[in-house]
Amino acid sequence: MQQLNQYLSQSLKEFRKQKGWSLDRTAKETGVSKAMLGQIERGESSPTVATLWKIAGGFNTSLSSFLEPTPAENQGTIIRSATQLRQKPASDAMLVASLFPFEPRFGFEMFELTLLPGYERLSDPHEAGVTEHVILLSGEMELLLNNRWIPLTQGAAVRFAADKPHGYRNQTEKPAVFHNLIHYQDTSH
Ligand code: MN
Repeated sequence: MQQLNQYLSQSLKEFRKQKGWSLDRTAKETGVSKAMLGQIERGESSPTVATLWKIAGGFNTSLSSFLEPTPAENQGTIIRSATQLRQKPASDAMLVASLFPFEPRFGFEMFELTLLPGYERLSDPHEAGVTEHVILLSGEMELLLNNRWIPLTQGAAVRFAADKPHGYRNQTEKPAVFHNLIHYQDTSH
């Protein structure tokens, strides 16, 4: 957790510097309050995944770029463990394992996400051309697409245009675990 906060603080400062954005401007672009952004930069806050996603969206960048450094190029086989990577930023009822962080040459990032019972998240549209894939590994969940909650059962695989509002929720008593592959058309992330 400490390490995550440190990395977040670092990367937020770096992204702001790259863009030349003040905290005020960053608050406008991301929809996250200036106070919260300041706390994150000082390492005093553990933002929710929803907040992280907002920040990434404001910078038109991937979520994973706020979770860990972009992997070095020219690596061969990569073996990672969701069990080891799974983390729970802040107090929200969602666990995130960044299985394959965003890399420009591939144009996607892939997560294992766990929705704990009762969790609901509405997502702002990602930038134009972003496509999401949801593959439900275990449990049951619902996906909000075109203003309709669509129930999914284990094994369901869905691809949708994520440049429109969408959402995820789990109304059951058991966790729902899914793979989320987010593909970016513009690979300058
Ligand atoms: Mn999304």
